[in-house]
Parts: sequence; structure tokens; C-alpha cells
Amino acid sequence: MRTDIEIARAARKRPIQEIGAQLGIPAGDLLPYGHDKAKVSQEFIRNLAGRPEGRLILVTAISPTPAGEGKTTTTVGLGDALRRIGKRAVICLREPSLGPNFGMKGGAAGGGMAQVVPMEDINLHFTGDFHAVTAAHNLLAALIDNHIHWGNALGIDTRRVVWRRVMDMNDRALRDMVAGLGGAANGYPRQTGFDITVASEVMAILCLATDLADLERRLGDIVVAWRHDRTPVFARELKAEGAMAVLLRDAMLPNLVQTLENTPAFVHGGPFANIAHGCNSVIATSTALKLADYVVTEAGFGADLGAEKFFDIKCRLAGLTPAAAVIVATVRALKMNGGVAKADLAQEDLAALRRGCVNLGRHIENVRAFGVPVVVAINHFATDTAAEIAAVRAYAAEQGAEAVVCRHWAEGGAGAEDLARRVVELAACPGAFAPIYPDGMGLFAKMEVIAGRIYRASEVTADRAIHDRLAAWEAAGYGHLPVCMAKTPYSFSADPALRGAPSGHVLPVREVRLAAGAGFVVAICGEIMTMPGLPRVPNAQIIGLDPEGRVEGLS
Ligand code: ADP
Ligand code: MG
Repeated sequence: MRTDIEIARAARKRPIQEIGAQLGIPAGDLLPYGHDKAKVSQEFIRNLAGRPEGRLILVTAISPTPAGEGKTTTTVGLGDALRRIGKRAVICLREPSLGPNFGMKGGAAGGGMAQVVPMEDINLHFTGDFHAVTAAHNLLAALIDNHIHWGNALGIDTRRVVWRRVMDMNDRALRDMVAGLGGAANGYPRQTGFDITVASEVMAILCLATDLADLERRLGDIVVAWRHDRTPVFARELKAEGAMAVLLRDAMLPNLVQTLENTPAFVHGGPFANIAHGCNSVIATSTALKLADYVVTEAGFGADLGAEKFFDIKCRLAGLTPAAAVIVATVRALKMNGGVAKADLAQEDLAALRRGCVNLGRHIENVRAFGVPVVVAINHFATDTAAEIAAVRAYAAEQGAEAVVCRHWAEGGAGAEDLARRVVELAACPGAFAPIYPDGMGLFAKMEVIAGRIYRASEVTADRAIHDRLAAWEAAGYGHLPVCMAKTPYSFSADPALRGAPSGHVLPVREVRLAAGAGFVVAICGEIMTMPGLPRVPNAQIIGLDPEGRVEGLS
């Protein structure tokens, strides 16, 4: 069995200009980064205005196992399969974060015969977008401290600076720290810390901005601190947004790459799926929709988080209308939802599988609640038995949904042609998409709608201070913003151990954050880590160069 990196290295890549030509992008509008990656020029994107749009297909999933259920792999396989059945298709994915590659998980460029390439580049520095986000974020941090150092004319409450610093590395030692030690020349001592770059609001902004002007406006809208009278201090007041936009100018341009089967793929932007919305950039998705008949994209985690945020945040803010959704299910994750321990997932267990199927049923119902038609993709693993597959298909049929077996991981696009045909049928008669709550509803009421209708909680709790804060934000004009829920992906509840399809649980909102530039309010339910650590034996210990200077050990 070849590893992902071995398969990726053997890919018969076409020059990136040929991939662009498939989409009608002239070579002159591709800004190449080597031979197999390119950004698309601003002028080209601007000139697409007014063109008709293709159909947007979301790939989401059931509540996952810790390893992921194959959403990225299925997104790639489906894109390849659509092309194989003669459709013009483009794939839109997030850029993976560099840090986690050196920890537990391997890369995030798909797997097996369904990958985007060059996988080493995509998983590492790629076209430098994340480094640009890191730089822009930290420039703002430096400007805040500098402003206070030179007299604090804006009257920032130095205890209420909410802007931290970021780095694209898993490093737990940076989570909580005291900065500014060493005397007055070094600023003033305060407790602060680092988050991983993908958790930066600048990343969320890059992914929601429609063009450079919108980017700059949103950067200016970032709330960096509060005054003693509790009024917000904006990045704009520090005159930071111009320089930040300069650092982000090239990062705003979508990156074009290809799959193992030479299907075009935009891999652009990568916000966290918990404290941010977890989707690739709006600019990549909107560009792709003008260039192809089908755009296949992925949202992070299971459908309770990923699809909900895709619909309620990304589609709402960008005016996108999804035509169909694919819910990826695996036999192993359904068994896990039925109570099987991770170590026993390879054994056939029809009883546990049936118990776990309620999780799939709940996700199907939820996605339909947005008016989006659904097909289930059973991402086939070698350990799946025929009886298990039949049981999942029968369960889906009871829910009035079709479950299609997909073998793209083993076979590439040829293994997902049935899924592609079903997606084409579904997308031909799209439902009536609508977000699940209106803009005008109160912020806490929005959380209650998501908790009630999607998580099936009986109640949302929050202490007085949180209610006061939400009321203050509503008074300050932020009441129309959507809500970005940060909760465990392993359960519909806030308790990761509560698998299956729990209902009647209580959702505790522990903290709320205002992301005024990105344009959402974050509700944190449970422990959310914004700076990961490395495991006891980090993957970094096996990553290295072979004698030819090629990267080894990325999986
Ligand atoms: P997600 O996007 O849902 O997190 P990925 O598509 O990244 O999931 O897949 C997670 C991991 O599982 C990857 O390492 C991938 O290679 C592997 N994987 C996905 N599908 C299969 C499959 N059918 N058989 C074996 N491994 C798979
Ligand atoms: Mg993924």
C-alpha cells in the first residue's frame, strides 16, 4: 500500500497554465508560484462580474471520529468524478495549517487516490498566505503596544486589550505569557499569549472579504481593545488597516492547483472551524462559481457545526445559494456513535452500527431544515463489510435519502461516479435555501435557535455577564451579526462523550467574543483550544528530507 505522499509524488501533474486553460483563465492572468501552483489575477476576477454561476455543492459529514471521516477526500473524489462524467467542475478547499503537520495529524490535502497536489507544498508554506496573515495580525499587535507606549492617546484600558499574537505552530508554552518585561523602554508588563494563525480574526476576514476594499474595511472594523467607559477601540483608530491590507494583498488572490486527475482546485484560506467559520475563502468560491458548472466545497467538522456555519455565516454573508449537500458517513464513525471504542472499530458490529445511524438521521434532517437537498456518501473503508454497507443504505432509505457507496480513496474519481450522477440529479432541482435564523433576531435568541433546531438542546444557559455583553453589542450596532458556535464536533451536545443523537441537553455558553471585522459573534460552549500543543511523540520526529532533498514523513 503506497502512502499518500508516495501517491502524490507519482502524480502526472499538468503545467498549471493547462489547468487554468481548462477554466478559461488566460496564462497572463495566472501568477505562477513554480510550475504547479498559481494565483489568479485581481483583474481577471473583477472582469467575471455578471457572468452566470454554476451550482454549489457542499460536502459535510456526520459527527466525526478524531481522525476525520474523509470530507476532503470525498470533495476531491467527487470533483474528479463530476469531470469524468463530462461536467465542468472545480474543487474549493481550505489551505491546511502548517503547525498540525508536525503534531498528530498528517496533511489535509485529501488521501489515497483522491488528493490535491503538490501535497507537500499545500501542507507546508504553499504560496505564503498564512505567513502573510501571521504578519498582518502581528503588525496590529505591535501597533497597539506601540500606541500605549507613546502615551495612549486613545485611552485604551490596558487591562482590556483583546488582540493577542499568532504563529502557525503548535506550541503550548505560548498560550499564556507575560509580555513587556524589562522596564519602561520595553512597554508595560501584561498578560497575553499566542493563538495559532488559523484562529486569527485576520484569517476569518481574508476568507469572508469580497475584494481588497472590503478586506481593508473589515480590517479597520476589528475591535482590538476596550476603553474604561467600555467603548470599543478599532484597528482603524490605530490607522492599521492600510498596512495590514498591503501585507495581505497577494494572499487575497485564490491559489489554483490540481487533483491527481488534473481537475482544477482552488485551495485558499483556512479559518478554524470552532472559533471561526471553517470554510475556504469567499473569493475562491465566488470565482469558481463563475468558471464552472459545479463547484464542490467542504466545511469543517460534522454538519452540526460545519454545514450550519457554511449556510448561516458564509452563504448568508456572501449571498451564496447551495444547490445540494453531500453528507459523508463512514461505517466506523457510525459504529463509534453507536458506542464502539476506537480500538474495536474494525470488527463488524451491526447492532452498534444501527444504534449509531441515528446520528446520520439527525444530520440529514438538519441539512434539509436549510432547504438543501441531501445525498449520503458512504466513504468506503477496507474493513467495511457488505452487511454493514447494506444497513447504512437501508437506514438512509428510511429517511428518504439515498446513500451511495464511494471508493474514491482506493480508485480515484472512477470510484465516485455514482455519487456524481446523484449530485447532478439533486442539484438540477434545488430546494429553497434559507439560513435558519433571520439577521434581525437577538444574538442570544440566535444561539437558542441553533441549539434548539440543530443540537436539539432544551436550553441554553449563560451567566449575567454574558447577557450584559450581548446586550451591549446589540446596542453598539452588532445585533444583526450571525453567531459562530464553538463546541465539540464529537457530539450534538457540548459533551464530547454524548454520541449518537442526544436531545434535551443543556448548552452552556461559557464565553462570547466579538469578531467585528469578520462579522460574527463567537459563542464558546466548552473548552476550545486556540493554540494546540504537540503530542508526546510529534510527527516532526519522522519528517525529514531524503537524499534527493524530497520531503518525507508527511502523511
Ligand atoms: P476530513 O476532511 O473529514 O477531516 P480527510 O478527507 O482529510 O477527512 O481524511 C482523513 C484521513 O482519513 C486522511 O488521512 C485520509 O487519507 C484517510 N481516509 C479517508 N478516506 C479513507 C478511506 N476510504 N480509507 C482509508 N483511509 C481514508
Ligand atoms: Mg478536511
